[in-house]
Amino acid sequence: MENHAFDRLFGRHADAATPFLHLPDGSHITHQAFLHRAERFAHVLSGLGLQPGDRVAVQVPKCADALALYAATLQAGLVFLPLNTAYTAPEIGYFLADSGAALFVADPDRAELAEVAGEARAMFETLGPEATGTLPPLAALAPEHFETVARGPGDLAAILYTSGTTGRSKGAMLTGANLTSNAETLMEAWRFTADDVLLHALPIFHTHGLFVATNTTLVAGGSMILLPKFDVEEVLAGLPMATAMMGVPTFYTRLLAEERLTRDLVAHMRLFISGSAPLLAETHRAFTERTGHEILERYGMTELNMATSNPYEGERRPGTVGPPLPGVEAKVCNEAGEELPRGEIGMVEVRGPNVFAGYWGMPDKTAEEKRENGFFITGDLGQMSEDGYLTIVGRGKDLIISGGYNIYPREVEEMLDEAPGVTESAVIGIPHPDLGEVPFAVLAAPGEVETDALAASLEGRLARFKQPRGWAVVEALPRNTMGKVQKAELRARYKDSFQ
Ligand code: ATP
Ligand code: MG
Repeated sequence: MENHAFDRLFGRHADAATPFLHLPDGSHITHQAFLHRAERFAHVLSGLGLQPGDRVAVQVPKCADALALYAATLQAGLVFLPLNTAYTAPEIGYFLADSGAALFVADPDRAELAEVAGEARAMFETLGPEATGTLPPLAALAPEHFETVARGPGDLAAILYTSGTTGRSKGAMLTGANLTSNAETLMEAWRFTADDVLLHALPIFHTHGLFVATNTTLVAGGSMILLPKFDVEEVLAGLPMATAMMGVPTFYTRLLAEERLTRDLVAHMRLFISGSAPLLAETHRAFTERTGHEILERYGMTELNMATSNPYEGERRPGTVGPPLPGVEAKVCNEAGEELPRGEIGMVEVRGPNVFAGYWGMPDKTAEEKRENGFFITGDLGQMSEDGYLTIVGRGKDLIISGGYNIYPREVEEMLDEAPGVTESAVIGIPHPDLGEVPFAVLAAPGEVETDALAASLEGRLARFKQPRGWAVVEALPRNTMGKVQKAELRARYKDSFQ
C-alpha cells in the first residue's frame, strides 16, 4: 500500500545493501537491515492494537533502534511524537495528556514512568541501546516483512513539540508532505548524495537532528555516523570519516576551542551546516580562518522544517540565514502582513509546502498564527537585504519597548560582544517603574569586566535609550540542549533590578 512519508524516506531503500548507520563500536547497519528491523517493530506496534493516526510518544536514548522505531511508526500509519530526553515525569505527563498518546515508549532506565503513562491512559513499553527494553524481544519474534499501512501526503506523520523557549511547548502537526518536501529540497540545495557520510551528533527528538539531518540523508541514500551525543573527542575522531556535519552554534565554538581542529583534519569534508540558534559572525569567521570552510547557516523552526538557507554555491554571508529555499516564500512584514521595504525590520512570515498543519489541540492559536493566504507568522523579527538575504534580528517576544521606543537586543549585543574580555552577551528587557521596560545586559566573560568603562564606550555609538541600564557578568549564558539562550530564565533572574 502507498504510504507517502514511509515510502519516500524509508521504503525506497528496502533492498539496498548500502550502509545507513555507522555505530560507535565500528560496525554498521545497511539500509536493508535497518528496514527489516523497522518492519519487525511495525509488527509489534500494530500487534499492540494501535490504529492509524494514533500517537506514539517516544522518550528514548539516541540509538539505531530509536530511528528504527521512527520508521516503524510511519510504516504502521501512526504518528511519531519524540520527546526531549531531559523531560521529567510531570513534563512527560503533560505531553502524554495533551497529545492523547496511545503508547509511550521510554528509556529502560526510567521504568518509573510507567505510572505517568498509566495516568494518561497510554500503553507503556521501553527501548534502549543494544536491544535493551521491552520492545526488542518482541521485535525479535516478529516477522521481517510488514504490510505497509496506507497514508496520504496530507496525513499526519509526526507531532513535534516546540522547544519551549518562549512559553509552554506547542505540538506542531507535520504531514508526510511537510517532511518529504523539505528533505528533498534540502538534499538538492545542499547537494547531498549517496556518497555522503553525515556526522550526526545532534539529539533526535528535535527537528534539526531528526528531520533536517536524518530525512535529508535518507532521501539522498547516504549514511550517518550516529554518535549518542556531542562529545568533542568523538566528533574529532569521527570527522576524518565524514563528508558533512550539521550542528548548533555551540558545536562550532566547542570545536574551535580545540587546537586539534585544523585544516588537515577536515580537508576531505565538503560541508558544515549550522542552525537552531544564531551563529555569531565571529564564529563563522574564526572557523573559516582555521579550517578553510565557510559554515553554511540556515533558518527554520519546528513548525516549518527549514525555510531559508545560505547557498551551497555563492556567498555564505556571516550573520545572515540566506534567501528562502526553493519552493518556499519568506518575507518581512508589518502587523497586517504587508511586505516591508527591503532593509526594514519586521515580522518574518513563511509560506510553502514545508509549513505545518497547525498546533495540536489549539485551533485558536493556529488561526492566530497562520493567515488565510497560507503565510505563517513565525514570531521572529527579520530584515531582508536588497539582494534577498534574510537576517534574523531576534524573537518578537524579546523586543524591548522602553519609554515607547523599540530596542532590538541584537543591535546592542553585537556591540557588547566586541568588547574586550566579553565572550558573548544577552540583552533583555527588565520592568522599570517609569519607562515600562529598560535594557539590561548580561555579559558572559571568563574574568572581570569593567562595566562602567564598557557603558561609557557606548556613548555616541548607541542612542541613549538603547544603552543598558543594568549589568551582570556571568561565566556562561544559560542554554538548552539546542544551544538556544534561555532569555526567559535571565528575565526571571533579574526582574526586580529596578523595583
Ligand atoms: P517555542 O516556540 O516553544 O518558544 P522555539 O521557538 O525555540 O521554542 P524551535 O522550533 O526549536 O522552538 O526553534 C525555532 C526558533 O529557533 C526559530 O523561531 C528561531 O527563533 C530560532 N532559530 C533557528 N535557526 C536560527 C538561526 N539560524 N538563527 C537565528 N535563530 C534561529
Ligand atoms: Mg518557536
